[in-house]
Amino acid sequence: MGDFILRISTNGGALAFIATTANTVGRAAKIHGGTPVVSAALGRLLTAAAIMGASLKNDGDLLTLNIKGDGPIGGIVATSDRFSRVKGYPINRDADLPLKPNGKLDISGALGNGHLHVIKDLGLKEPYIGTAPLVSGEIAEDLVNYFAVSEQTPSAIGLGVLVDRDYTIKSAGGFFIQLLPNADDQTISALERVLGGFDSVTSFYDGGKTPYDMADHFFAGIGYRITDVLPVSYHCNCGRQRAEKALVSLGAEELEKIIAEDKKATLHCHFCRSDYDFDEGDLNSLLREIKK
Ligand code: ZN
Repeated sequence: MGDFILRISTNGGALAFIATTANTVGRAAKIHGGTPVVSAALGRLLTAAAIMGASLKNDGDLLTLNIKGDGPIGGIVATSDRFSRVKGYPINRDADLPLKPNGKLDISGALGNGHLHVIKDLGLKEPYIGTAPLVSGEIAEDLVNYFAVSEQTPSAIGLGVLVDRDYTIKSAGGFFIQLLPNADDQTISALERVLGGFDSVTSFYDGGKTPYDMADHFFAGIGYRITDVLPVSYHCNCGRQRAEKALVSLGAEELEKIIAEDKKATLHCHFCRSDYDFDEGDLNSLLREIKK
């Protein structure tokens, strides 16, 4: 089963997204080769970015979730375009902590205290930037707090990543439920009841269930319809041409300095860990481009 998001509209005024992202998070885990707690934290943020990205309107729009914390991971960045093509990276992929007493990965300990930044680049002069403090460091709760504080939207969010013994990803996904201003009391209490009895995203999916099952589990009682099925993937849009552009943007003077001092340059992409190498000949031809 590939990764996808269900967009759902319920009776009584709620909107929901339910995602399965095991392949995408598995790809991220493989690229970054992080510890289980790092893969889980990165996977949760990538899943959230995929879901929030699905609400972007235009092709060039970009959503970035940036967590900065004082824990051993240091921070995580995840971005998504409107097609839920995501990419991300941890600051320190080797961060490790003992499991919590309940046997779960200590994501909040690994992130520590800090802030969540939500950046929406909608092609306007200035990007939209919203910031909220981390309230739990488990990411889902931090996003609920962000939506309440910055966007005045009541929501329920669950995110989960199950890392196997060999560090591969067994299951991953999440749900966002948002109440519309016209949500009725009956719907709200029905949702509170079903969410109150819900264990976790990972235990739900680990039993072989799908987003369709989760939609039924949450919303069968109030009535719902699936309005979209959206693909999710890990996608890095870097390339040699973009690396050349970055070097050209340094300007002639800086490029001449690099040629004189190092005779070569390597540009590293944090998102897919690709390296782009430029030797003296490459750099000189870029310099000629600039001076043309
Ligand atoms: Zn890349």
